[in-house]
This record gives sequence, C-alpha cells and structure tokens, in this order.
Amino acid sequence: MRWFSFRQNNSGGTFVQDEDVDIHVFIEADDAIHANEYAKLHGIYFDGVSKGRDCSCCGDRWYEVDDGDYDVYNTIPDTIKHLRQYDLNHAIYYFRAGAKVYGRNIKMDGSFKKVTLQPGATITGGIVLPQLGRTLELL
Ligand SMILES: [Zn+2]
Repeated sequence: MRWFSFRQNNSGGTFVQDEDVDIHVFIEADDAIHANEYAKLHGIYFDGVSKGRDCSCCGDRWYEVDDGDYDVYNTIPDTIKHLRQYDLNHAIYYFRAGAKVYGRNIKMDGSFKKVTLQPGATITGGIVLPQLGRTLELL
C-alpha cells in the first residue's frame, strides 16, 4: 500500500477547494491504476481540457498518477517531509479503508486528531464503524 500524490493545477487561475479536494490530495492504494480510480470517487477528474472543463492555456487541473512517479510514498510522514505547513493545511488524505483526514488535522509526525469516515469505512484492526460520514475525534 502506498500514498499517491495528486497535485492540483490552478487551471483558469483558481483552485477548487472544498470538502473533497484541495491543492494536494493523497490517495492510499495498491498501485497507480487503483489510485486513479479512487481519485475519481473523490472529486478528481482527468482530461479536463479535452472535456471542456479546464482552461486550455493553463492545462488540465488534475493528472493521472503513474507507478513510476517520484512522489509516491510509503507512509504519511513520508508525504509530509515534502510539504510545508501551508501545503499540509491544503491537503486531504484518503485512506483505502474509507477514512478521510484533512491535512490541518495532521501533525508533522504523521499522527492525526480527526478523521471523517466514508461509506464502507474501516479502521486499523478491521473494525467496521457503523455511522458513516461522521467525524471522529481521536485521542
Ligand atoms: Zn488559462
């Protein structure tokens, strides 16, 4: 399992920043093919220029990742090493098990204090959590 980095291009001069995406989106997946598929479940799209969604002079807002990309990481702390605090505050992490963590809730050591559960979410240890979409406060 690795973390794939999707960095948003500010096509048209603006970033899309909402509940689903921010400037940096990290997706946990077994490989790039799955990462690209999961990304599409979370508001990321590809080929925005050819589809008429993005500005043709600025280029696509999002690009598919590749297994050979240099910015594929083994752990969350590994992703953070390459971010400034500003970037971390504009990052969203999607765990394959179904949890979403905003970068603003992550400390520089990779621990985090809040997690939002997606449909079908599980957490480490295989515990299936019944209430979806809620935010857990972690100790
Ligand atoms: Zn443009």
